Order: sequence, then C-alpha cells, then structure tokens
Amino acid sequence: MSRTESDCLFCRILKGEVPATEVHSTPTTFAFRDINPQAPTHVLVIPREHITDAAELEAGHGRVLADMYVTANAVARSEGIDGSGYRLVFNVGRDSGNSVPHLHLHVLGGRVMSWPPG
Ligand code: AMP
Ligand code: ZN
Repeated sequence: MSRTESDCLFCRILKGEVPATEVHSTPTTFAFRDINPQAPTHVLVIPREHITDAAELEAGHGRVLADMYVTANAVARSEGIDGSGYRLVFNVGRDSGNSVPHLHLHVLGGRVMSWPPG
C-alpha cells in the first residue's frame, strides 16, 4: 500500500472516501475528471503515493513520474484528443494557483489553447 495522508483530498479520493469520476486506473496512478473543468477534456492524473507537489520530486520518483505520463497518454487517446493536441500542466506554489497539495498532472484538451497561459 502506497503512503497516503488521511487529511489529503486526493488521497481520500484514492481510498474511495470522496467520490470522483474515474477515467483511467493503473497500479501506481489514477486519473479522474476535474470537478471544475477548464476545457472540454480536463482530467487530473495523480500518483497513488502521496507526493505533495512537483517541487518535492527527486530522482527516485522517476518511475512513478513516467507512469503518470503513460497514464496521461492513455487518457489523451481515450478522450480522443491525441490527434488534435492537448496541454499537460503541473502547478507549483502560490503564483501558479496550486490549490491541492497532492501531485497532479492536468490533462487539458478539446479546444484551442492560448499561450502564454493566464
Ligand atoms: P491546482 O490548482 O493545480 O492545485 O489544481 C487542483 C484542481 O483540482 C483544480 O482544477 C480543481 O478544480 C480540482 N479539484 C478540486 N477538488 C476536486 C475534487 N473533489 N474532484 C475533482 N477535482 C477537484
Ligand atoms: Zn495525498
């Protein structure tokens, strides 16, 4: 069993204590729909292990980080946005607007994105 935190929202989703709409699941990752979607496809990919944010990542996290990107690829295919393109985002810290302290990769697609982001 991966290390989880009892007061962490996304750890609680992993334990089934908080409902979420599953999109994809693997032994090390979980993907579910964002509750406040910012694009026609807005899915969050999280590790089953509690990692606070991308600033906490170390070399030893390489495997789970690769697993998260492989899950994001599967999500893009199942959502039908692999051909049109999509954006993968980690928010880190105050200025990014990061609000949930459990690592999550945003998968956003289904519309044309502007750059730079707001
Ligand atoms: P961030 O701003 O990068 O920390 O992203 C956190 C994301 O989690 C936001 O896009 C929220 O809409 C989303 N979120 C917060 N609570 C939930 C929830 N219970 N289920 C699904 N998504 C959530
Ligand atoms: Zn957590």
